[in-house]
Amino acid sequence: MCAAAAPSQLEVDVAIVGGGMVGASLAAALAGSGRRLLLIESIPFGEAGQPSFDERTTALGNASRRIFEGLGVWDRIAPEAAAIRSIHVSDAGRFGFARLNAAEQGIDAFGYVVANRCIGAALWRALRAAPELSLQVPARIEDLAVTSECVRFSVLNQSGPAIAVRSRLLVAADGAHSQVRAASGIAADVVDYQQVAVVANVAIDRPHEDRAFERFTRCGPLAVLPRHDGGVAVIWACAPEQARELLALDERSYLSHLQAQFGWRAGRFVRAGHRSSYPLKLTRAMAGTAARTVLIGNAAQSLHPVAGQGFNLGLRDAAMLAEVISATGGDVGAPAVLRQFIEWRARDRRGVVGFTDGLIRLFGDSRPGVALWRNLGLLAFDLAPPAKDALARVSAGFGGPTPRLARGLPLRNV
Ligand SMILES: Cc1cc2nc3c(=O)[nH]c(=O)nc-3n(C[C@H](O)[C@H](O)[C@H](O)COP(=O)(O)OP(=O)(O)OC[C@H]3O[C@@H](n4cnc5c(N)ncnc54)[C@H](O)[C@@H]3O)c2cc1C
Repeated sequence: MCAAAAPSQLEVDVAIVGGGMVGASLAAALAGSGRRLLLIESIPFGEAGQPSFDERTTALGNASRRIFEGLGVWDRIAPEAAAIRSIHVSDAGRFGFARLNAAEQGIDAFGYVVANRCIGAALWRALRAAPELSLQVPARIEDLAVTSECVRFSVLNQSGPAIAVRSRLLVAADGAHSQVRAASGIAADVVDYQQVAVVANVAIDRPHEDRAFERFTRCGPLAVLPRHDGGVAVIWACAPEQARELLALDERSYLSHLQAQFGWRAGRFVRAGHRSSYPLKLTRAMAGTAARTVLIGNAAQSLHPVAGQGFNLGLRDAAMLAEVISATGGDVGAPAVLRQFIEWRARDRRGVVGFTDGLIRLFGDSRPGVALWRNLGLLAFDLAPPAKDALARVSAGFGGPTPRLARGLPLRNV
């Protein structure tokens, strides 16, 4: 047994390391579940350098919208969300293209583009008001040790002595370079795509009409997504040396490079905000759990942003883990609980990773025969309603049980 904690110590059921978009979502989902919760985050929301909540935008699928509705944060996000009502996919310099239209699929929108900062504000507002949640921010953990009964570690913050923590379950939500993953002895398989995403918010000379574009260029995929302020978010993945050039260009030259690569489908690009960059890798944890420890979000799998799936997948991790924990009457860190979570998440995780990685490999292959088949494939897809229907449903996950929150249901039957 884990002995009762002394006054200077903290004993909780679930300790979450990492309060980025995924960890904060898990904490919000579990708040009010009756479990004692601890969230440790090293960089406060709103502080420069916070990796999750910068000026980037995230395309949220409909399942993510439903999860956020279930967490009670969607009302705060919605005013700053831009709906995606059509998607245009093309292969630059070739004949193939495909179009998806939400109305034709019988849905209002494929998803919503929201600034990460806005998602962070909504989540952290909810966390500050959450019952039974101890927030340690900014703070980090040290001296992690696992017994069969609990996980022990120290929390170091700026305002007082170290806190000795005991938890039934430790959740690693601390991103692609997860300290918890490493400390738990779980290795990661890393594929370097040799690409860097250069991201900017750009103003255009006409309404975006809720359209999103994915254009596969010779150097990498270029996404143009609608923003709620009428502009677009540009995510341009390219070779590292080209990314360095794009970052060094003045605004005018960047806009003319962008126009030349993307074309005129979205109108004229007239102004560009600050450009930031993200090296792109596929990082997969070799195991999803260790004793009393579970990995979610980027700590478990970090993807190329090509199809805007990484956070959506991580949010389904958080929703399913919250569901499994809520359904457990007893020990939330017991092996059976972790096994259940891993089994239920396996197909979705495998499917999204395979789909995203496959897209990069397929469109990165410049052999003439491959390019021809790829373009014929795009045209066939454009003409094939069943394929479009299948893709439109992707937002719910790539298989396996769908979390209750993603289906619009409460975490537990009431
Ligand atoms: C350019 C780009 C565009 C993207 N677009 C999309 C999109 O449109 N749709 C989509 O679904 N996904 C998208 N993604 C992916 C998405 O951003 C990530 O999947 C998501 O941010 C992962 O969230 P996370 O909370 O798991 O990890 P992170 O965002 O990395 O957060 C980890 C958190 O843990 C904290 N932390 C780290 N170490 C410690 C520690 N030792 N102690 C305490 N705290 C710690 C960090 O400060 C951070 O707050 C995109 C990614 C990129 C790079």
